[in-house]
Amino acid sequence: MNMCIFCKIINNEIPCTKVYEDDKILAFRDINPAAPVHVLIIPKKHITSVNEINEDNAEVVGHIFAIAAKLAKELGVDSNGYRVVTNVGTQGGQTVEHLHFHLLGGRNLGWPPG
Ligand code: AMP
Repeated sequence: MNMCIFCKIINNEIPCTKVYEDDKILAFRDINPAAPVHVLIIPKKHITSVNEINEDNAEVVGHIFAIAAKLAKELGVDSNGYRVVTNVGTQGGQTVEHLHFHLLGGRNLGWPPG
């Protein structure tokens, strides 16, 4: 098993502030929040980034977005708006090599991103 930092969080070897979990995905608060609401949603099966998504493993991405919508409602950002984003590779700003979607909200989010 690949033991990246997010795999260790999934395995309860590193603590997190969990907001949702099921057999396929985990959502937890970002340790360094960039907005009042900043949750990371990750697949439990290790996928490095969008670069590794294919027809065989893409289903979990739809599930992640369904839960992102549910969490946005629960966290009170659905009506004002929010962003779901994933960074890929060095120029994309990815620092953890385990696919993760940032759910950001609670303030005006600039566009384009830096
Ligand atoms: P990215 O830069 O897109 O790869 O996002 C990685 C995110 O993971 C950053 O926003 C970090 O603050 C966050 N992060 C790193 N380690 C932890 C951790 N142990 N618990 C929660 N969030 C973390």
